[in-house]
Amino acid sequence: MPAAPGARHGRSGAYSWGIAPDLPPIALGKPSYDDREATAVAECLASGWVAGWGPNGSALEEGFAKRVGVDHAVAVSSCTAGLHLCLVAMGIGAGDEVIVADYTFPATGHAVLYVGATPVFVDVSPTTFCIDPSRIAAAVTDQTKAIIAVDQFGQCADWDELQQVADDAGVDLIEDAACAAGASYRDREAGSFGRVGVFSLHGRKGISSGEGGVITTNDAALADYARKVSSFGIESARTRAGAEGLPIPTFESLGYNYKLSDIQAAVARVQVEKLDGFIARRNAVAARYTDAFADLSGWSTPSIAPGRNHTWQAYTLLAPDRTARDALAIGLRAQGIGSNFGTYASHIQPIYDAADADCPVSLDLFERHVALPMHADLTEQEVARVISAVLEITS
Ligand SMILES: *Cc1c(COP(=O)(O)O)cnc(C)c1O
Repeated sequence: MPAAPGARHGRSGAYSWGIAPDLPPIALGKPSYDDREATAVAECLASGWVAGWGPNGSALEEGFAKRVGVDHAVAVSSCTAGLHLCLVAMGIGAGDEVIVADYTFPATGHAVLYVGATPVFVDVSPTTFCIDPSRIAAAVTDQTKAIIAVDQFGQCADWDELQQVADDAGVDLIEDAACAAGASYRDREAGSFGRVGVFSLHGRKGISSGEGGVITTNDAALADYARKVSSFGIESARTRAGAEGLPIPTFESLGYNYKLSDIQAAVARVQVEKLDGFIARRNAVAARYTDAFADLSGWSTPSIAPGRNHTWQAYTLLAPDRTARDALAIGLRAQGIGSNFGTYASHIQPIYDAADADCPVSLDLFERHVALPMHADLTEQEVARVISAVLEITS
């Protein structure tokens, strides 16, 4: 049995906040599954088509395109792979620069490195945690080919302003919507902004198939190219299966194997149907947290910018300083409550060799954000336990 949480705070085991020491852990994030996903997987296994580009993948793509309100969706093995394919499809490569939101999981910057281009990190807004449109123009050079903005933690970036900046600079705009399935901005869905959007289906995102991703776009040529390059640069076996004679593909350009397996697509299809329910539950949890922590002196709760529907992939409190942040995360973990930092300041990651980039807001968020448990299966009792623990540790 773990030590009494009270003892760790010098309270001699008095559970003043009503928490028994042997309560089950509360996950920071988790996917929400039931028998429907299990049945979908069983049916897929029985069907014999388990590889990529199967019937579940096609149905998933159709469902995603419809939901997002775009003409094309391409299922891929991850958001990172999808971002890579988009950059390949746009012909971006060595010598080119791509402007990237600094405060993000480094998959965004990595995708730029995959094609041999240079990520140029631009700071984020202290209120949305998404790239600050007013700071982009100064980062544009003759080498700039695209801007990748991130819908951070499930909240859309400032897409109208971003499109204007991208148009003024004459460069492409890419939406990293990894965390934002179901989010919206001025009545448009995440994934519909810029020239192309990419979602993640990783286990920590709002809907999940374990690993996975989806590219969404109205650009038919880009979608076709990305699809082909996601499978070694050739047409799919399924497409060929319907053809006459014995068509044998030729390999003309370097492709990858970035297909989403049909087993994963089967899971993701069910998740898309549940998406609105998940978002509603996450919003209810976020509202309870924000209500409970609104008056916590020195701490800030995250806000929803005007015209947005937030999906709360993560809920982050902003601590007064790094020491307080660390103490809260460590204190919560000691009580079996999942907690972590927010996300990364990309420019200080050694791989990018960009430590001199001017991104003070991102750096500050990296040092002071603390993520609290956020997923669609959180019960009222669990939320109450998290709130009590936060109030106790920060008091
Ligand atoms: C998780 C995440 C990714 C990477 O998604 P994968 O599907 O794991 O490749 C990319 N960008 C952002 C903003 C993310 O949060």
